[in-house]
Amino acid sequence: MKKPPDRSILLGAHMSIAGGVHCAVERATSIGCTTMQMFVKNNNQWRGKELMTEDIVTYKKLLRESSIGPVIVHDAYLINLCATSTDILLKSREALKDELDRCEMLGVEYLNFHPGSHMGAGEGEGIQRIAESLNLIHEQTAGYRVKSVLETTAGQGTAIGYRFEHLRQIIDLVEQRDRMAVCVDTCHIFAAGYDLATEAGYAQTFREFDSVIGLPRLVAFHVNDAKRERGSRIDRHEHIGKGMIGNAGFRMLMNDDRFKTIPKILETPKEPDMKEDVENMRALRRLVKK
Ligand code: MN
Ligand code: MN
Ligand code: ZN
Repeated sequence: MKKPPDRSILLGAHMSIAGGVHCAVERATSIGCTTMQMFVKNNNQWRGKELMTEDIVTYKKLLRESSIGPVIVHDAYLINLCATSTDILLKSREALKDELDRCEMLGVEYLNFHPGSHMGAGEGEGIQRIAESLNLIHEQTAGYRVKSVLETTAGQGTAIGYRFEHLRQIIDLVEQRDRMAVCVDTCHIFAAGYDLATEAGYAQTFREFDSVIGLPRLVAFHVNDAKRERGSRIDRHEHIGKGMIGNAGFRMLMNDDRFKTIPKILETPKEPDMKEDVENMRALRRLVKK
């Protein structure tokens, strides 16, 4: 028997659900993940195939027998909680509600999503609309245990969420505030201008996160190196240690006691055989000081 992976480091990657959600667990297990992320439906369609009881039962059984947890779900890409088109806005709200339903059925802890793109309406307007969307969705899903996790963004186009203040303002406008959490994507915040590569910059970045949002809201990291320079606002993920954040930045993150129990998820380019994930997880584990 293979020895179970070391759960003192919660490390995993975004896993394909081809074949069913339970296949994501199998894939993650096969490469030694201790946490993982997945979609719960086709990521570029509005409507997904219904989750069958059998899918749910199989998924839960495999997960229980695995060394994986918590599980993070990433929402579908079409969703925009502050779309200016009424049609898209309504579809987005319905779709995010459906994602929460699926997460709840599967017992998923975290639903991660991008705040939204204001499409020219302005950031203040966008932030208001995102909060309004979340309030409506939360009302329809009262009592759910899955957390609504806002992901920090690179600020490409009209994306909201490239400043910690944006997330703070959204959270402040949400009524069921205890359901709100935050995921830091290292590539995104670096592209947005927050330093992670130098000791002083790293310290300042998380000092700022703590004072603006508060570290207790932080429930997940997307650990991606960045292809482009700090402040580029361009969202291009790079393999660990090969980008502008580099090993020094990830070494600080991997050895930061505040983040020891926070899941770290890779979203770096990969082939179906997942050898890049294996390599990136190895690279991150190597940075951990014994
Ligand atoms: Mn994302
Ligand atoms: Mn991400
Ligand atoms: Zn990204």
